[in-house]
Amino acid sequence: MATYDFDIGIIGGGSAGLTVAAGAAQLGAKTLLIEKETELGGDCLHFGCVPSKTLIKTAKVYRQMKNAKAYGLPDADVKPVEFPRIAKRIRNVIEAILQHDSAERFCGLGARVETGNPVFVDEHGVSLDGVPFTAKNWVIATGSSPVIPPIAGLDKSSCMTNRDLFTLEKLPRSMIIIGGGPIGIEMCQAFNRLGTDVTVVEMGGAILPKEDKDMADLVMGVLLAEGIRFRLNATVLRAVRAGAQHEVMIKIGDTTEALCADTILVAAGRRANLAGLGLEGIGVDFDGRGLKLDDRLRTTQKHIYGAGDVTGGYQFTHAAGYEGGIVVSNAVFRLPRKVDYTYLPWCTFTDPELASIGMNEKAASDAGIRYSVWSDNFRDNDRSLAEGETTGKIKMILDETEKPIGVQILGPRAGDLLAEWVAVFNGKTSLSTLASAMHPYPTLGEINKKVAGTFLSTKIFSEPVKKGLKLFFNLRGRACEPAAQPPQ
Ligand SMILES: Cc1cc2nc3c(=O)[nH]c(=O)nc-3n(C[C@H](O)[C@H](O)[C@H](O)COP(=O)(O)OP(=O)(O)OC[C@H]3O[C@@H](n4cnc5c(N)ncnc54)[C@H](O)[C@@H]3O)c2cc1C
Repeated sequence: MATYDFDIGIIGGGSAGLTVAAGAAQLGAKTLLIEKETELGGDCLHFGCVPSKTLIKTAKVYRQMKNAKAYGLPDADVKPVEFPRIAKRIRNVIEAILQHDSAERFCGLGARVETGNPVFVDEHGVSLDGVPFTAKNWVIATGSSPVIPPIAGLDKSSCMTNRDLFTLEKLPRSMIIIGGGPIGIEMCQAFNRLGTDVTVVEMGGAILPKEDKDMADLVMGVLLAEGIRFRLNATVLRAVRAGAQHEVMIKIGDTTEALCADTILVAAGRRANLAGLGLEGIGVDFDGRGLKLDDRLRTTQKHIYGAGDVTGGYQFTHAAGYEGGIVVSNAVFRLPRKVDYTYLPWCTFTDPELASIGMNEKAASDAGIRYSVWSDNFRDNDRSLAEGETTGKIKMILDETEKPIGVQILGPRAGDLLAEWVAVFNGKTSLSTLASAMHPYPTLGEINKKVAGTFLSTKIFSEPVKKGLKLFFNLRGRACEPAAQPPQ
């Protein structure tokens, strides 16, 4: 039997790779982790979730300072932001988390960490800048990179991506964001709140195209009210330098328009990082989206797995972590486990946030499911009123057997509110259990209980139930009739 240097080798030290490395090493597998950058952590830590959420919080506080009056406070004299101070705060947060993702910590868990650019030389071996390493199993977890669309005048030198955003030396006075997906939309609000004049250009008819249109439109309404401009159904024709500014020519229908700004941010999709790994030479298939995988995350070479953004699937840190766990089961435990994304949650961290689990109306219609929608508004939640954050609603979707198949929440801390639904769906908790469980008052979470209760009350307070109770317990009915409304 062939012998290898390692039981498992992992390429890429981001969310997916680190999950596999920590799991495999702690289970006793001889583990190698190869990362091309000098620091572990990947996009999420350095250029994605962590810096973006830190920036979003700073922008929210800044807006609240400016809106002090709305909370009964004196008008505040708020000065313009100095971006390097914000960038420093971002760096501090990254550094705090980095302790947890350090090579030393992984060494402590038992994994060897190497830095460099690996290339597969055969099905079990890589050359790491000339040094050979072999492993029985491999995991490709190299993540994804922003795509700059092939538009005349648009290239690395003329636009920014998420890799440039969080270390700016100066807050841009104006910004054109190409792409109305989650990254573009989160960043448009954050930069606009900090003082940048922002225009979003989106090729589709709505922002956040994966979401139901009513929810996406509500988000857009909030952003419009904050002063962000949108150009929907827009094709970007070209970008040109106009002195210190950039001019972006767009076309909507038959009309062309020139937009001008200091900076262009491209947030128009991501491409799996697969180039240069030598996969073509060892029979690992991939296409423009990512690796070709079966439902146990095995590539076309069964001992080589894929996890994270490189799969071309759901591009979230928690999806990467989940997939990392599936790989550990299959490759280390030898327990055949398949991926199941039925209850994959996600959240777009606008203010208010838009969080989702299971099917939305769009997905249910596409799947040919007949569904009903139950909803409740944050303006009817006491805590929302107290906090002055009343925009948004919850939507609960039931299939025709009245089983919940999805929930979307647009509202304050929607991502955290969704946690209860994560437990409900995964624990197969009934709606009556949720509706009858005590929730602390006043909390935003009461909206979860309330929407379940709204559905159940149509059953409990139905005419047949009322008739039955009247008959069995001799209930005598209404004690008060509302006054008749005067004719209009
Ligand atoms: C602006 C932004 C905001 C985001 N916000 C969120 C959020 O709020 N919530 C959320 O869930 N997701 C968010 N994401 C998505 C999230 O960052 C990714 O889904 C996640 O990082 C994917 O993890 P990964 O392990 O697949 O890739 P990564 O974390 O990118 O890790 C891949 C690693 O592989 C390394 N690598 C690449 N090529 C090679 C090679 N050839 N050899 C060796 N190493 C290599 C890279 O350097 C990197 O360290 C955001 C993304 C962006 C861009």
